[in-house]
Amino acid sequence: MTAPSTSSRLAIPVQFVKGIGPKKAAILEKIGIRDVLDLFFYVPRRYLDRSVILTIAQLRATANRGGFESAGGPAERNVRQDVTIVGEVRSFKVLGVGRTARFVLVLADQTGSMQCVWFGGVAYWRKAFRLGEVLAASGQPTFYGGTMQFVHPEFDRLSSTGEIEEIDWTKTLHTGGLVPLYPSSQDLSRVGLDSRGFRRSLHAALDATLDLIPETLPEDLRERRGLISFHEAVRAVHFPDSMEGLQSGLKRLKYEELFHFQLKLALKRHAVREEKGISYDIRSALARRLVDSLPFALTRAQVRVINEISADMAAATPMNRLLQGDVGSGKTIVALLAMLIAVDNGFQATFMAPTEILAEQHFKTLSSFLCDLPVTIRLLVGAQRSRLRQDILEDTSRGTAQIVVGTHALFEKQVAFHRLGLVIIDEQHRFGVRQRALARQKGVNPDVLVMTATPIPRTLSLTLFGDLDVSLLDELPKDRRPVRTLLKQEEEKESVYQFIREKIREGRQAYFVYPLIEESEKIDLKAATIHYEQLQKRVFPDFRLGLIHGRLQGEEKDRVMRAFQRREIDILVATTVIEVGIDVPNASVMVIENAERFGLSQLHQLRGRVGRGSDQSTCILLARKWIARRAERVGGMAGGPLQPALDEQHLAERRLAAMLSTNDGFKIAEYDLELRGPGDFFGTRQSGIPEFRVADILTDGLLLDNAREDAFDVVQRDPHLSNPAHQILAEHLRTRFREDLALLRTG
Ligand code: ADP
Ligand code: MG
Repeated sequence: MTAPSTSSRLAIPVQFVKGIGPKKAAILEKIGIRDVLDLFFYVPRRYLDRSVILTIAQLRATANRGGFESAGGPAERNVRQDVTIVGEVRSFKVLGVGRTARFVLVLADQTGSMQCVWFGGVAYWRKAFRLGEVLAASGQPTFYGGTMQFVHPEFDRLSSTGEIEEIDWTKTLHTGGLVPLYPSSQDLSRVGLDSRGFRRSLHAALDATLDLIPETLPEDLRERRGLISFHEAVRAVHFPDSMEGLQSGLKRLKYEELFHFQLKLALKRHAVREEKGISYDIRSALARRLVDSLPFALTRAQVRVINEISADMAAATPMNRLLQGDVGSGKTIVALLAMLIAVDNGFQATFMAPTEILAEQHFKTLSSFLCDLPVTIRLLVGAQRSRLRQDILEDTSRGTAQIVVGTHALFEKQVAFHRLGLVIIDEQHRFGVRQRALARQKGVNPDVLVMTATPIPRTLSLTLFGDLDVSLLDELPKDRRPVRTLLKQEEEKESVYQFIREKIREGRQAYFVYPLIEESEKIDLKAATIHYEQLQKRVFPDFRLGLIHGRLQGEEKDRVMRAFQRREIDILVATTVIEVGIDVPNASVMVIENAERFGLSQLHQLRGRVGRGSDQSTCILLARKWIARRAERVGGMAGGPLQPALDEQHLAERRLAAMLSTNDGFKIAEYDLELRGPGDFFGTRQSGIPEFRVADILTDGLLLDNAREDAFDVVQRDPHLSNPAHQILAEHLRTRFREDLALLRTG
C-alpha cells in the first residue's frame, strides 16, 4: 500500500461544510469527528416520531382524551411520539422578568389557536419571528391554566400558505416526520451543536459532499447481504422517510463499520501467514516425559488444544493463536508442553505474565514441573539486582536460558534472545496489540500463543482478537468441585467469622478480599489496613494474618505471598492484587467484603482463587443488607429484561445474583458485557477495545458474523486488495486505519 493521501475523497474535513467554522470543528474533533464521513457515521441517539400531523382542534380533542396512539406498527424502543401542527404566527410577547421571563407565541390555524412557550433566551426569541409567518411546530401538548401549549417546541419555517396537504415534509428538518436526536453535551450545545444544529450541519454536509463520496462496499457484497447504497443509507439514517428505511440505513452503516474493521484484521492475519515461520518437529521427547510424569491425566480439552497448537507449530507459517480458558482449566501445562516442543527443536521460549508477582509464581510452577527434566529456565523481572539481571540477560542472549519467564521487561531493548522460537503471553488484554508485535520482533517470526483467563464474550473476542486463531479450554479437571457461593449480609458477619475459624482449624487457609477503588486509593488503602488490624486483634487473635496490596514493594509482596503459600499465614487480607493467577490450593475459603462494589468478571476472577484443590471450597459474598436481600430475589441471570439504564444499585443486585447462579466463566462474561456495555468490559477504557460508532457488538452479533465472513473471504481471494473492485476498500483502510496498518509488514 502506498502512503496515505491527506486530500482523500474519503476524508473531506468538516470545516468545508457550510456552517461549520473552526470553532465548531474543534469541538467536533474532540468527539472524534474530523471529516464528513465521521459526521455521517455520527448516528442519532434516538428519533422523535413527528409524523402525526393534526389540526389544533384535533390536537385539543386528542389531548383531552388523554393522549394519542402511535402512528402504527410496533412502537420502537428508541422512538418517541410527538405531534406536529401547522399554524400562522398571530402574536408574541415576553411575560415575566428575570428568572421567570418567558417568550409566548400564539399560533393559529383555521380550527383554533395554541401557545408556544420558551423559558429564557427571550432577547433572541423576540427577534426570531415575524407576524403572519407560517410554522410547523412539534411537541407534546400540555395545559397551563386551560390553555394548550407546546413548551420548547421544535419548528420549521414553511414557505407555503399553511395548507397541510401542500407541505413537502421531506424539506423540513425538525418537524413532520421521523426526526433524529443526536447525543449532546455542554461543549456541543455551546457552539450550537444541539440536535437542531446537527440536523442543519448534516443537511449542509449532505448537500455539499455526499455526491463526492463514492460507494465504499463492493457491489457483489451489497447484493449478497441485501444492503442499500451508502448514499441511500446516510439519507435514511439522518433524514428518515420511514421506519423501514431507517432500519435498512442503520443496517448498512453497521455492516460497513464491522466489515472494514474485520477487513483490517483479515489483512493482519494474512500478513502473518505470508511470513516464513518455524516448522517444528512436534515429536518432542521432553513433552512426552513431562506428560508421563504428571500425577493427573490431561483433560480432553487440554489434549484437543495441545493438538491444535502442535499443528500450528508444525506448519511453516507462524502460529498466532489465542487460548481461552476459565480459571483453573489448566492453561499452564498446555503452555509448558508447547515450550518443550520449541526447546526440543533447539529454540528458546518465553512466557510473559502481566505482573511481577504472577511472573514469579509462573516461574515457580514451571520450575517445579521441570525439576526432573534437563531444561534451563530463568526469571526476568524489573526489580532484580543488576548483577543477577546481567547474568540472566547473558543466559538469554547466549541461549543457555531455554525458557525465560518474565513481565513486559522481557521486551525491553536490552533483552536479546539467541534463538527465540515461541512467545507465550498470559492475560493478553492488559498488554494490547502493540505488545504482541513487539514480542514477535524479539525472534525471527516466532510462534505466538496468547492466553487469557478472562473469558471473553464471543463477539468481543472476534473484535479484540479477531486476527488470531482461537482455542478453547472449556472443561475443568475432573477432580475439581465447583466452588459453593454464598451471599451474606453485613449483619451476618459473626457467623461468617465462625465458619472461617472452623475451616482454619481443619487446616485450610482463607482470603479476605477488600475493594480498592481507584479514585480514593489512599483512603481505601487505609481502610484495608485498619480492617486488617481489627481482624487480627478482635476477630482472629489466635490466627496468623497477612496483608497484601498493590502498594507493597515487590519484595514485600513476595514475602507475604510466599508465607501464605508455605502456610505460615492462615488468612490473607488482600485487595484485588490477588485477582489473577494466584494459586494456593490449600486456600479453600474466600470472603469478599463489599461485594457490591466489584465488577462481575472481577468477582468471578477472585472466586477462581479458591476451588483449586480437591476440597469443597466456599466463596462468601458480603453485601449491604438491602442489596443482598434483593439480589437473592432477582434469581440469577434470568432477572427479566435489562432496562436501558439500570442504576448502580440494581446493577449490583444483578451482579451478585449472577454470581450465585453460575460458575461458568463464559456465561458470566456474556452477562457482564450486557450489564456494562463493551467499552467498560475490562474496567478501563484503555483496554484496546475499538469503539464502534453505529454497530453494537452486544446486539449485532449476526451482522458481525456476516461482515467477518465477507472480509476474510475478500482477503482470501485478493490478499493485497489489488483487484480494481477492491480499490475503494484499500483506500478506505489507508485513510481510516493508518496507524494500525503501520504495524504490518505487508509485501
Ligand atoms: P489456569 O492457568 O488455567 O487457571 P492452571 O494451569 O494454573 O490453570 O491449573 C490449575 C491447577 O490445576 C494447577 O494446580 C494444575 O497443576 C492443575 N491441573 C492442570 N491440569 C490438570 C488436569 N488435567 N487434572 C488435574 N489437575 C490439573
Ligand atoms: Mg494460570
